[in-house]
Amino acid sequence: MNLDFTDEDRAFRREVRDFLRQALPDDLRRKMIARRYLEKAEVVRWQQILNARGWAVPAWPVEWGGQAWTPTQRYIFQEEMALAHAPEGQPFNINMIGPVIAAFGSDAQKQRFLPATANLDIWWCQGFSEPGAGSDLAALKTSAVRDGDDYVVNGQKIWTTQAHLANWMFALVRTDNSGKRQQGITFLLIDMRTPGLTIRPIRSIDGISDLHEVFFDNVRVPVANRIGEEGRGWDYAKHLLGNERSGIARIGLSKERLALLRALEADLAERGVLDQRERQRLRRKLTEAEVELRALELTQLRVVAADAHGGGANSAASILKVKGTELQQRMTELAMELAGPAGLTLAQPADGDDEEPGWIAAAAPYYFTMRKVSIFGGSNEIQRNIIAKTVLGL
Ligand SMILES: Cc1cc2nc3c(=O)[nH]c(=O)nc-3n(C[C@H](O)[C@H](O)[C@H](O)COP(=O)(O)OP(=O)(O)OC[C@H]3O[C@@H](n4cnc5c(N)ncnc54)[C@H](O)[C@@H]3O)c2cc1C
Repeated sequence: MNLDFTDEDRAFRREVRDFLRQALPDDLRRKMIARRYLEKAEVVRWQQILNARGWAVPAWPVEWGGQAWTPTQRYIFQEEMALAHAPEGQPFNINMIGPVIAAFGSDAQKQRFLPATANLDIWWCQGFSEPGAGSDLAALKTSAVRDGDDYVVNGQKIWTTQAHLANWMFALVRTDNSGKRQQGITFLLIDMRTPGLTIRPIRSIDGISDLHEVFFDNVRVPVANRIGEEGRGWDYAKHLLGNERSGIARIGLSKERLALLRALEADLAERGVLDQRERQRLRRKLTEAEVELRALELTQLRVVAADAHGGGANSAASILKVKGTELQQRMTELAMELAGPAGLTLAQPADGDDEEPGWIAAAAPYYFTMRKVSIFGGSNEIQRNIIAKTVLGL
C-alpha cells in the first residue's frame, strides 16, 4: 500500500494552506490557539468565508455545494484546517443533518434546508439522547402521534448541545411501540420556536452551559418535516452516526496541540521555570505522545488509502475514535502539567488574554471540556465492544 502523497496531493495542500493563510481572520486564529469559546457569530463568519470559497461542505454531493475530493484530499483539508488553527465546521449542520437531507430528504426539503444549512443561516441541534437512551439509543421514548397533517410530540431529550443557539432540531421520535424497537423510530425536523417546546440549560464540568434538556409538551410538527418514511428513522440515524465518527480522530488537532506544547515547554525552560529534571521528564512524555500520534496517523493514512481504493474504512473507525480521543485528552493533561499553578483556574480567559503562551489560562477549561470526547459519538467503551466483535472476532 502506498502511503506517500502524490504531486497533485502536495499541490492541493499548498492551495489549502495559501487560502487559509490569507482568509482566516487573525482574531479567530488567536481565539482557537487559546481554545477560547467561540461565539455563534464567529463560527458563522468563518463558515461563510469557507462557503464563499466553495469549501464549506466538501463531503456533501457536488450539486449541493460539495467537492469531488478524494479521501486523501479530504484528509489533507482537515489536517491543514487544524494546523492553521481554523475553527472546525459546525458538526450538526455540516457532518450530520446536511448529508442526511441530501441522501433521504424530499426535493422540497433539500431546496429549503441545504443551502441555508451550508451557509449557517440556520443552526441545527441534535435531539437523539434521552434520559435512559444514550448508548442504548433504540430505547428512546419521546412519542410522536399522527393527528391530521401533523405529528404531536411529547417527551424529553437531554444533552442537546447548543439548543439555545439552534433554530431547528433533528430528532428521533417513537411512532410505533409494537414491533422491534428500531423499527418504530421516525426522523423529524422540528422548528425550535414551536409552542410547547422548552429548553433548560445544564452547567457542565468546564463551567459553561452549552448542554440542555429539551421538553416537548404537545409540540405539533408538520408531517412535511419528516425525513423519508415513517418508521425508518433508525436507518437514517445510522447514516448520520457513521458520518459523526468519521474524522473523529482529529489528528490535525492533536498535532497542533503538540506543537504548542513543545513551544511552551521550550519557553518555560528558557525562562528558568523548569529545572533540568522536570524538563527531561516532560520532554519524555511529549515524545511518547508524539510516537503514539505518529502511529495513529499511519493507521489513519492506511484507512484513507484503503478508502481511496474502494473500501475497508469502516472497521477501523472505532479504533481511530478510541485512540484519537485518548490522545486528544492526553494533550490536555500535558497542558495542565505544563501550566502548573497557572492552570488552576476554571475561568474562561478574557479578551486580550490570548497571546502565546497566555493560552495556558485556558488549560483547565479545555481539559474539562475534552472529557466529553470519549463519551459522545458512541462512548469509548461501546467502541471497544465493537472492536472486540468486529476486529478481534471475540
Ligand atoms: C458533551 C456532550 C455533548 C452531547 N451532545 C449531544 C447532542 O447534541 N445530542 C444528543 O442527542 N446527544 C448528545 N450527547 C449524548 C451522548 O450521545 C451520550 O452521552 C452517549 O451516547 C452516552 O449515553 P449516556 O450519557 O446515556 O450514558 P450511558 O449509555 O448510560 O452510559 C454510561 C456509561 O456506561 C457505559 N456503557 C453503556 N453501555 C455499555 C455497554 N453495553 N458495554 C460497556 N459499557 C457500557 C458507557 O460507556 C458509559 O461509560 C452529548 C454528550 C456529551 C457528553
